[in-house]
Amino acid sequence: MMETEYICRVCGFEYDTPTWEEGEASGDICLCCGVLFGYEDGILKAILAFRKEWIIEKHAKFDSPKYMPENWDLCAQIKKIPEEWRGDGRLLEKICPSNG
Ligand SMILES: [Zn+2]
Repeated sequence: MMETEYICRVCGFEYDTPTWEEGEASGDICLCCGVLFGYEDGILKAILAFRKEWIIEKHAKFDSPKYMPENWDLCAQIKKIPEEWRGDGRLLEKICPSNG
């Protein structure tokens, strides 16, 4: 788990700069889901809790609208969430039924 990560563990949004590198998080806030890298996404349980809140309570809204890609595709994005951070995937399946 010491690899360099560029994808938000909660929402799958992809960055040009690492979100996690050698076990250290950038400390940035995800533009899409609002998670604080290194604080709320360190363990799976926290990731699943934050994702649930983002999806259920915030309706998976893009947190910083001015950085939202023009053709933002939520379902394409959540497919990028790495396997080890997906949990059972039921919640993801619920918002994007075709999501494998
Ligand atoms: Zn995110």
